[in-house]
Amino acid sequence: MKPSHIEHIGIAVKNLEETIKYYQDVLGLECYSVEEVADQKVKTAFFMVGQTKIELLESTSPDGPIGKFIEAKGEGIHHIAFAVEDVNSALSEVAAKGVRLVDAQGRKGAEGLNIGFLHPKSTFGVLTEFCSK
Ligand code: ZN
Repeated sequence: MKPSHIEHIGIAVKNLEETIKYYQDVLGLECYSVEEVADQKVKTAFFMVGQTKIELLESTSPDGPIGKFIEAKGEGIHHIAFAVEDVNSALSEVAAKGVRLVDAQGRKGAEGLNIGFLHPKSTFGVLTEFCSK
């Protein structure tokens, strides 16, 4: 397995609208999609920078994963996502190398991508996501 590029960087924010304004008005990026992912209890907004996206994540509930993250650590970078050929085989490959997984199997994420997370305790503190089309 070798990731082809950074697919996106996930950033936990308290207020999606205010943060979108910063990325648009200050950094000059264009928000091309806002999407709610109900089972993750988040609302997401996407910006394209080259071939990498910025994914802003606002919690729709205090007990969701992003709500808990912000309560513990505050706003900021939440995860990094690598584009891989196939999420399921990438997950089983790293699991075979002793990495603890959050998702044993890929599941459906924002933008209809197949996604799976590795546990940050196994990845030196960086919540790591694999994604494929
Ligand atoms: Zn992500």
